[in-house]
Amino acid sequence: MRLQQMLFVTLRENPAEAEIPSHQLLLRAGYIRRIGSGIYAYLPLMWRVLQKVSQIVREEMDKTGAQECLLPQIQPAQLWQESGRWDTYTKAEGIMFSLVDRQQRELGLGPTHEEVITAIARDAIRSYRQLPLNLYQIQTKFRDEIRPRFGLMRGREFIMKDAYSFHTDEASLKQTYRDMDRAYNNILKRCGLQFRAVEADSGAIGGSGSQEFMILAEAGEDEILYTEDGKYAANVEKAVSLPTDAVASPFTSYEKIETPDTATIAKLAEFLKCSPTAIVKNVLYEAIYDNGIKVLVLISIRGDLDINEVKLQNELVKLAPQYNANTVIGLNVPDETAQKKWAAKPLPLGYIAPNLDDDCISPAKEVAPKFLRLADKTVVKLENFITGANESSYHVVGANWGKEFTLPELVVDIKAAKVGERSVLDSSQTLQSARGIEAGHIFQLGTKYSQAMGATYASEAGTEEPLWMGCYGIGVSRLAQAAVEQSYDKDGIIWPVAIAPYQVIIVIPNMSDSSQVETAEQLYQELNQANVETLLDDRQERAGAKFKDSDLIGIPYRIVTGRSLKSGKVEVVKRANHESQEIPLAEVTSTIKTWLEKDT
Ligand code: ATP
Ligand code: MG
Repeated sequence: MRLQQMLFVTLRENPAEAEIPSHQLLLRAGYIRRIGSGIYAYLPLMWRVLQKVSQIVREEMDKTGAQECLLPQIQPAQLWQESGRWDTYTKAEGIMFSLVDRQQRELGLGPTHEEVITAIARDAIRSYRQLPLNLYQIQTKFRDEIRPRFGLMRGREFIMKDAYSFHTDEASLKQTYRDMDRAYNNILKRCGLQFRAVEADSGAIGGSGSQEFMILAEAGEDEILYTEDGKYAANVEKAVSLPTDAVASPFTSYEKIETPDTATIAKLAEFLKCSPTAIVKNVLYEAIYDNGIKVLVLISIRGDLDINEVKLQNELVKLAPQYNANTVIGLNVPDETAQKKWAAKPLPLGYIAPNLDDDCISPAKEVAPKFLRLADKTVVKLENFITGANESSYHVVGANWGKEFTLPELVVDIKAAKVGERSVLDSSQTLQSARGIEAGHIFQLGTKYSQAMGATYASEAGTEEPLWMGCYGIGVSRLAQAAVEQSYDKDGIIWPVAIAPYQVIIVIPNMSDSSQVETAEQLYQELNQANVETLLDDRQERAGAKFKDSDLIGIPYRIVTGRSLKSGKVEVVKRANHESQEIPLAEVTSTIKTWLEKDT
């Protein structure tokens, strides 16, 4: 491709809208243009990158026996009502764009395709003989994200590869899940990325495994905890750890003590000269269920630890039936204004005990009359502990479960794992932390959707059984930008060779020097004939501007038809390390071919 013929506009300055390097660089180098919040145009260079990523994804999916298809983006509300997700997706989370057609029918723009594919499976899969089956598509998804940001990282319209598999049983599902794990590893490796597969939160579906594929980068929204030996890696949302050992409480008898100005654990520990690990901290949350019921949750956890809200949310979803609800749609620590809505009297914040009385809650139809009391596992074994006295400026010390306090019936793991803690797999390994960008997520769904939507098959024994399902997503457009986030320098993008929009750029420093132009034209022909994807910078621009642009757009190899032509050579520069060498004209194509084979 000749630059002279392309839509090629680069920017000198960083656009104000872009916060992270990859977003800035893609805008500056003319790969993308912002059209609206979370909505981007993929310009020709970007489209080539996206097609390269898609092709790698396609090849690796096809290798596993999965089949490509294309599902509708406009989806009838009725399908989502069958699965029970319409209200959560359009109202509660509000992630789905929805519309009403001229016949007054409700429709949604597909944020994901479980409902559509399950409806197809319900129709088309009759017998165990048709199983297992894995269908995928590469397509634009729509999500009305709360905070679209960082360009293609979190868009409202983005490209995803999504696959859905169907099975007779869990063992078959696990087999395909392993195949997808391998395929995803291959995809990310072939794209030239540094990544880590991590255990991920599967929400409240329970039991089923899920893994995320994280591209390692400082700007990543996710935190990963892992051990050096590589045996454990998890999203912090899911991570478990062994807490540090608790230090024995200095108190041996039960007593109420005045502790002025000790509403935080740090102040309390200092005042009482005790370790935070000897304190039982009681944290209040407000959970809203999908039927509008508000539940006040009182959690007892060891003083030095924090609550993992994803784990807490999962526990609360499990308890939904107890409140005649299906799911939790809101979870927050109530501030003073929020408390006023349900508290019968001012609460002794900072001094709450595990037995805070239920009469603190004023009777109201939409508020559960009793606290839901949960204990994190870390408080169970504490003895002679320190905790609140349910009275401002007072704590109790030397307390014990089964004596002064009743241990809540529900004991769960809701503590946030932290860097530096020990691994549950091997206590000699401590957890390290890294940041990552979630590029893919593979998921064992089980029978959640098939049961809700009545997608069954006839088993070998002749009975109708629900289909077992898995789903597997890769953010194609997010992955492409993440590649930039992982690989750039002060001059611009450094594309991994496998997904670069072009492999070579030929720069003609002086357009009025006919020998430079002729040599460039000749090399351009030769490289194209050898199937090397080549750009020719034939613009009437200064040499300096051309070099700057070629660095900025990140093409792996640059050929310069400059001074060395006199000795029958051209300068060839590797973008990654600016390493430059002079190569005789006749050897240029073969040399580059050899490099490309090595790099992809
Ligand atoms: P996130 O936690 O980042 O919102 P998700 O859990 O909603 O992601 P999935 O529903 O599993 O993501 O979608 C599969 C993949 O699609 C993700 O791994 C990610 O790479 C990509 N993806 C999801 N949301 C977006 C978005 N708003 N913009 C770009 N890519 C996205
Ligand atoms: Mg999301």
